[in-house]
Amino acid sequence: MDLGLKGKWALVGGASKGLGFGCAQALAREGVHVVIVARGAETLEAAATELRKLDTTILAVAADITTVAGREAIWSVAGGPGKNFDIVVTNAGGPPPGDFRNWERDDWIKAVDANMLTPIELIKATVDGMAARGFGRIVNITSSAVKAPIDILGLSNGARSGLTGFVAGAARTQKLASNNVTINNLLPGKFDTDRLAATHKVAAEKMGQSLADIRAVQEAQIPAGRFGNSQEFGAICAFLCSVQASYITGQNILPDGGLYPGTY
Ligand code: NAP
Repeated sequence: MDLGLKGKWALVGGASKGLGFGCAQALAREGVHVVIVARGAETLEAAATELRKLDTTILAVAADITTVAGREAIWSVAGGPGKNFDIVVTNAGGPPPGDFRNWERDDWIKAVDANMLTPIELIKATVDGMAARGFGRIVNITSSAVKAPIDILGLSNGARSGLTGFVAGAARTQKLASNNVTINNLLPGKFDTDRLAATHKVAAEKMGQSLADIRAVQEAQIPAGRFGNSQEFGAICAFLCSVQASYITGQNILPDGGLYPGTY
């Protein structure tokens, strides 16, 4: 299927590895010009080199996307589209796990800033231009924790639920929906990335088990019998950005291999 995206411009946050990289790669394969962002310049440059093997423009911005300065660096990158992106994939690292009794106001502000307010700022900066041009796609990478909260991820549960509520309203505003601008959330279940490996390491240490045992137990709980990978996540993201997906907006899509047990 031709997704109809050749020549469009995408911004992908947290794209030097993992799910963000998967999205950037899937879009670049469709001929989309992509601005990729991450803080660590070295890994980001390696990702850009890989993506440049595809026949499209890749610009790399080494910045913290959760800061005003980081976002200014994105809007002003040489050769980029300014704020005139056709596609924005919002993504940054997830908040740390812990016990809510130990979190102070600053911990909450940091989580809300990264996982709620940053996507909202990116949406605010780009959607009206998208509406004026008659095409726009926002995909927010959130978490399955929005549907099935995980106790130790209270910061993520809370901040991402705030974003989800905002998106549910914003996506349905007529100015956006009637001008072919969609806003959807992609809720990863368990995907085999460095982030998942880090959570396995914490679990292994806490439970005194080997990493292999932790992985095996978790994989066995997933009806698909395996973790997801960044390529298949990226492919779903690219479809949500496609011309074919213009009638999907305000939705929460849950790729999790069947792990979530509910009907809705
Ligand atoms: P990952 O493999 O650790 O990759 C995270 C990416 O984001 C890296 O490129 C990282 O590079 C970048 N990043 C982190 N903080 C950033 C910031 N402030 N500004 C710019 N870039 C930043 O993680 P992942 O598994 O792809 O996860 C992506 C998102 O999905 C996270 O929010 C995670 O919580 C969520 N999620 C993942 C899973 C899963 O199973 N993998 C499940 C549920 C939710 P730098 O560190 O160099 O900046």
